[in-house]
Amino acid sequence: MRQRHVPAFRILTDVEVSASAIERWREQYSHWTPERRFSDGKSKGEVDAALDACSRTPSEISRILNAGWANPRCDLCEERATVVAQVGGEYGGNTVSCCVTCAERVCLLLGQFLPRAADPVGKPPRPLPAGELP
Ligand SMILES: [Zn+2]
Repeated sequence: MRQRHVPAFRILTDVEVSASAIERWREQYSHWTPERRFSDGKSKGEVDAALDACSRTPSEISRILNAGWANPRCDLCEERATVVAQVGGEYGGNTVSCCVTCAERVCLLLGQFLPRAADPVGKPPRPLPAGELP
């Protein structure tokens, strides 16, 4: 008998992403000298010093680096978010991250297929007109 596949879901927050930001940033710029400057004029050494004194909160990481280092990214709308649900990743596979706004849109779209108490079972759902889509 074949076992039913249960997808893996995981919540990823900006706090968790920010907690690992400094290590990820230092790894990415490990080949830079401390004097080398970023496009905003700050040197790698200056950023490094600011990170040493940082509390690793999302707001601190965003201020010193940018929101891209502090917040998870939604794979559907490609925006940075405070929290996303990650789906997949079993056996080393890829994950898909979904923000609350996109999850709400998916629920609204799928919700039209839920059987309603007054509807006979099996009645095809009424598709939402394009103007009603979130
Ligand atoms: Zn999204």
